Amino acid sequence: MRSFDAELWQRLDAICGQGLLRELRRVDSPQGTRLRVGGQPLLTFASNDYLGLANDPVIREAAIKAVEKFGAGAGAARLICGSLAPHHELEEALARFKGVEAALSFSSGYATAVGTIGALLAKDDIIILDKLVHACIVDAARLSGAKIRVFAHNDLDDLESKLKWANGRVALHEPQTSTPTISGTRVTRPSGQKNNVLVVTESIFSMDGDAAPLREIVGLKEKYGAWLMVDEAHATGLYGKHRRGLAEELGVSDNIEIQMGTLGKALGASGGYISGSRPLIDFLVNRARSFIFSTAPVPAAAAAARAAIEFVESAQGELRRQSLWARVSEFQSHLTSRQSPILSAIIPFIVGDEARAVEAAARLRDRNIFVPAVRYPTVARGQARLRVSITAAHTPEDITGLMRALETLDFGFKPSTP
Ligand SMILES: *Cc1c(COP(=O)(O)O)cnc(C)c1O
Repeated sequence: MRSFDAELWQRLDAICGQGLLRELRRVDSPQGTRLRVGGQPLLTFASNDYLGLANDPVIREAAIKAVEKFGAGAGAARLICGSLAPHHELEEALARFKGVEAALSFSSGYATAVGTIGALLAKDDIIILDKLVHACIVDAARLSGAKIRVFAHNDLDDLESKLKWANGRVALHEPQTSTPTISGTRVTRPSGQKNNVLVVTESIFSMDGDAAPLREIVGLKEKYGAWLMVDEAHATGLYGKHRRGLAEELGVSDNIEIQMGTLGKALGASGGYISGSRPLIDFLVNRARSFIFSTAPVPAAAAAARAAIEFVESAQGELRRQSLWARVSEFQSHLTSRQSPILSAIIPFIVGDEARAVEAAARLRDRNIFVPAVRYPTVARGQARLRVSITAAHTPEDITGLMRALETLDFGFKPSTP
């Protein structure tokens, strides 16, 4: 036991030496723009609660009602002990909201990616990922056993070269002729089934806030006959006429085989989802291991997510969305550089060095402002950054306060003079 702990202390020392140590900060208040952290009140620009729904009375009430009617726990996985009504109501609301045939909810976005990619792909398939996709997609790709190729971030030429390579390779492979067997945990593909190529990207990237060129990516995947999965974690509820996400905004929803999103960001609850065709959802119920072998999310989470979808669709939801974009625009108007055509609530300031990013975040905290320093392995080494995220719950004064605090840092942040 002692040598075990000694080894782990040593590893932690090494992490600390690289400026990469992470520690939990206890918060004694609900999520919101004001957090009480270790007794210190902080104006916060850290959460993904973009519409300020996590502690909204309407969503809270839906969660409380679900507890009163269905209790605290879910009892078992949904295929074991019966599938509770709140999960069905959520999935019906999701399918309607996304304008698709069906949807399936998972306990988290992470579990959604791992279960879905693992179900769809096997050893002889190929998965092509944008360089900056979320860790859960990378882990899912590895677990699936498929061959992984990575294209440079948002680089369509590089994506096309990977697609060309994949097509050549898939064509070379004869379909397997053996009868289905179970080897380890992976089921071998039934005989005669061809191998597949799946492209995966995010729509709005979680740590950079930039948008994927989804129209062009759809064009390429169609040209090469690949499948496309888009993770709308940071876009669900925010973009498009019906707030379905960036795919809707860019008019390509109907050309994406697998649409993924989370329920814990703009929707303020918890969980993840896949939306798409009926056979996709039925197949996942049968094959997604993170769905089959995991206790259902608590009824309160499903009810909260459903209430959030209804909120987002309402006139009140539209007002929230307008205040989010108003705050983002106010902040952007102070910045000299970034002029992206698509607004995003995520605004990173690249510092580079890990220790300097941590130091910058500490200086902001001295001024009662909380902006997280995001470091490896969340982003590449030497790409540490302050990740500002703005929400509809921030006021114009909050944005001014953030501006003032950022101006005091000397890491190249150059606000334009208003
Ligand atoms: C947060 C996030 C996830 C994971 O969702 P959780 O519900 O937090 O597990 C997946 N993809 C992206 C892009 C994310 O930002």
